[in-house]
Parts: sequence; C-alpha cells; structure tokens
Amino acid sequence: MKTIVHWIDGAPYEGNPVGRHPVENPATGEAEAELLMAGPEDLDHAVEVAARAQREWAKAPLSQRTEVMFRMRQLVLDHQEELAELIVAEHGKNYSDAIGEIQRGRETLDFATSINAALKGEFSYDVSRGVDVHTIRQPIGVVAGICPFNFPAMVPMWMHPIAIATGNAFILKPASPTPSAAILTGELYKEAGLPDGVFNVVCGDRETVSRILTHPGIDAISFVGSTPVAHVVQDTGTSHGKRVQALGGANNHAIVLPDADLDFAAGHISAAAFGAAGERCMALPVVVAVGGIGSDLARRVKAHAERIKVGPGMHEGVEMGPVITGSAKKRIVGLIDDAEQRGATVVLDGRGLVVPGHEGGHFLGPTVLDDVPLEAPVYHEEVFGPVLTIVHADTYDEALRLVNGQPFGNGAAIFTNDGGMARRFQLDVEAGMVGVNVPIPTPVAYYSFGGWKESLLGDTHIHGPEGVRFYTRAKAITSRWPSERTYTATMSFQRED
Ligand code: NAD
Repeated sequence: MKTIVHWIDGAPYEGNPVGRHPVENPATGEAEAELLMAGPEDLDHAVEVAARAQREWAKAPLSQRTEVMFRMRQLVLDHQEELAELIVAEHGKNYSDAIGEIQRGRETLDFATSINAALKGEFSYDVSRGVDVHTIRQPIGVVAGICPFNFPAMVPMWMHPIAIATGNAFILKPASPTPSAAILTGELYKEAGLPDGVFNVVCGDRETVSRILTHPGIDAISFVGSTPVAHVVQDTGTSHGKRVQALGGANNHAIVLPDADLDFAAGHISAAAFGAAGERCMALPVVVAVGGIGSDLARRVKAHAERIKVGPGMHEGVEMGPVITGSAKKRIVGLIDDAEQRGATVVLDGRGLVVPGHEGGHFLGPTVLDDVPLEAPVYHEEVFGPVLTIVHADTYDEALRLVNGQPFGNGAAIFTNDGGMARRFQLDVEAGMVGVNVPIPTPVAYYSFGGWKESLLGDTHIHGPEGVRFYTRAKAITSRWPSERTYTATMSFQRED
C-alpha cells in the first residue's frame, strides 16, 4: 500500500510519525494509501525550515516572486488532469467537478501574479515642513493553513498563493482523507522555482492542529473547516498571539419568490444542492418557497435531480460521486429518516441507491424533502450531503426571518424577477456572499470570499484584497532629510551653489 509522507524543505519527508491514517477511496470504501501523522519534532522541523526560508524569501524582489507565481500558474494548468485524478480518488467528486475546483483555485494564482499592484503603498509629502509619510506592507512570517477535505486543491489555493507572493513561508495541514493534492502542489512549487522551505506540507490529526495553534514559531493561521473546530482554532490561536482567520460551516438558504421563473430556479437549485454530493460550503441545502409555490417547485426540482447520474467520479457521464465516509452517509440517512418521521414529504429518496460493482462505496442518491418542519435537524444543522430541504413561508418577510434567524451566514440567494425585491434582499440579508438568481454566489478570486456570523470568525475574508491584508502587516514611515534644503510644493528648490 502506498505511503503518503510530508513535504518539507522542498522534498518528501518521513520524520518520526506518531501514527498512520488510512486514505480511503470513497467510491469503493477501501483504503488505498496510508498517511503519516506528524509527531511534534516533525512540526518543529517544518517551522524551523520555513522560518529560515522566509527570511530570504521576504527579501526576494517582487519581480522574482511574481515570476514564480506565473510559472506555478502554468504548471497547475499543465498538471490539472493529474491533480483532478488525485482529488477524485480521495474525495470522490466527479472528474469535471475536480477540474472545476482547480480552475477556481487557480484564479487565486492569477491574482497572485499581480501582487505587485496589490502591495503598492501610500505616500504623502510635506505632512509637516520637509516631512514625508509613506506606508509599506510586510509579510507576517510563517503562516499555517489548516484545510477541510471537501476542496483538496481549491481551499489551500485560496491561501498559499497570496501568503507566498506577499513574502511569507507557508505550512499546509491538509485534511487527512484528501492529502495528495497538497503534496503535488509542493512538487509543482519546486518546479516553479520557489526556494525550498517556503511551501511545506505537514500531515496530521487534531493533535497536530493543536501544536500548530500553540507553536511559537507560527505567526498566523488560516483555517477552513467546520464551525466547532473554527472556534477552537480562533480561541487557541489568538490566545497564543497569532493572527487568525477561521472560516466555518454553512447552511445556505435561497428564497424563491412566487414571481420567479420556476423552471430556471429548479434547474439551478438542483445543480447547487447536489453538485459534489452537497459537500460544498457554498452548496444550497435549503430553499424557502414563498407564497404557496413549495410543492410545485419540489416537483420541478425532482425532475432535474432524478436524472443526475451517480457513480464513481472517473466514470464517463457521472455527475455526482459518493459522500466522503461511511459514517457521513449514516449520519445523512439518519437526518432524512428523522425528517420523514416528523412529517416532511420525501419527494425524491436517495437512501436506497446502490451503484452496481461499487456496493462498498458511500453512495447516496439526490434526496428532495418538501414541507420540512423547522424543528427538524435536517433543516437547522449543516447536512453536507445530497439533500435538499424545502420549507414554506407565506411572505418575503417570513422567509427573510428564517434566513437571518439561523446561526450561519455564508451564502444566501434569492430567485425573483422583481429587481426591487432583489435589491432589498441584498441589503436585508445577513450573509457574506449573496446571489440574485445565482444559487452559488462564490466571488471570483480578485474579490474576497467569506461569510458572516458562525461561518467566519476573525476580521478578514479570504483571498483577494482581504487576503493580502491578512498575510501582511502595515508599516507607516515618517521621514525627514535634514541635510537637504527643505522642499515644499510652494517653494522652488534652489541649489546651494
Ligand atoms: P473539519 O472541521 O472536520 O476539519 C478541518 C480541519 O481541521 C482538518 O484539517 C482536520 O484535520 C482539522 N480538525 C478536525 N477536527 C479537529 C479538532 N477537533 N481539533 C483540531 N483540528 C481538527 O472539517 P471537514 O469535515 O474536513 O470539512 C467540512 C467542513 O468545512 C464543513 O463544515 C464545511 O462547511 C466547511 N467548509 C467551509 C468553507 C468556507 O469557506 N466557509 C469551505 C469549505 C469547507
């Protein structure tokens, strides 16, 4: 069986593992590799290497840093099939979805190629006679990225291109079920000419994360994962003096108003609820149907969802793969059973789905639940599976109360043909990313990504301009040159001689 080792100082690194984690193929349910779990000395080694490399990398001119980013961008393009195959094998999503996540991640590399523009400072001359002020932004030092299983390439790419382009060294802790894309990323950075030690991968479990959160050599942490862990990361990291951004879970709602084009809405809702088996933080698990359209909408979504071809991600024509583990499948089936017992209508039932030849895989078919009672956990918990919950509301105001009354605020959408209502929703809704007839309003990478409330702890969103702010510190410099004649806008300069 293949062993997956860390990537430290520009090379594979075994170190002194404290354990091994089986890496399963969710389409078969079988372990296909073993991942080494880093011991304390392994993390110490990575931090030492990163700190040393960062001191030099921070001095590299912007032209050199952007050159590396241009080469890395091309290498990711050249290797995207290989990367996608690794993602399919460990995550289970279908191949075109894996290619899609790499393309969305690569957008951050595009942004990082123009980091010189993002790092321009400000300048004011003659704030006092002969005194000028300018600002620069400097890297923080060694930053760690702790990532979830569901986007093994894209989520780390929200972080490392900007962290590295701004002059930091980066230590990536991938999720244990999906580590291989991270290791290939290390190989590609080396080929792109990034000095050894600037990008490192340390694999491990919650103990490894605890050590990252308290390690004195790590200056900042970007976390993406579930909300309970985001709280641990935020509390522990900040109490150990680190800059932290912690993106948490989600339970995105879309309001569908009665004037919406219901066929258009149904197609988009189906794609948003069931793409990647619902294992996206920007998936759409909840629809609030307003004004008696719920059952009609549910029927139309069903017509799209029942045509989705479910199977192993590399198979021709497959549109939806398995969920990540057997225990995730069991939990999701339990939530559907519970909703049914509470009186929800099961419009489309994916519980019994079997993929021939892949009986051990963690497959579930798309499931549509209509008229779900609000107290059902399938409505108010993050399901992270291929389940669409439809709840009913009489008015826009009642629907908005549901959207804003839940603890998460990652994405939210509205389907309507009324521009005035859409505009009102943009202002009313308590979420970080809002879609108007767009069910997955993930911003392009030159904007920043992030939710509100329990979906993001910390002050800055990730990637884009806020990513640059997160990975750099501002410095304001006030200068005077007393040996020169004072020069002001109102006085002409006269030479002494
Ligand atoms: P997770 O929180 O279980 O794990 C995330 C990372 O934290 C992993 O690297 C894991 O090893 C580590 N970890 C897990 N438990 C820990 C603990 N008790 N202490 C310390 N570290 C721990 O998340 P997941 O299941 O890998 O990913 C799915 C979650 O991520 C969902 O909640 C999803 O909404 C969220 N997510 C959010 C975004 C976003 O942008 N807000 C994006 C992608 C995923």
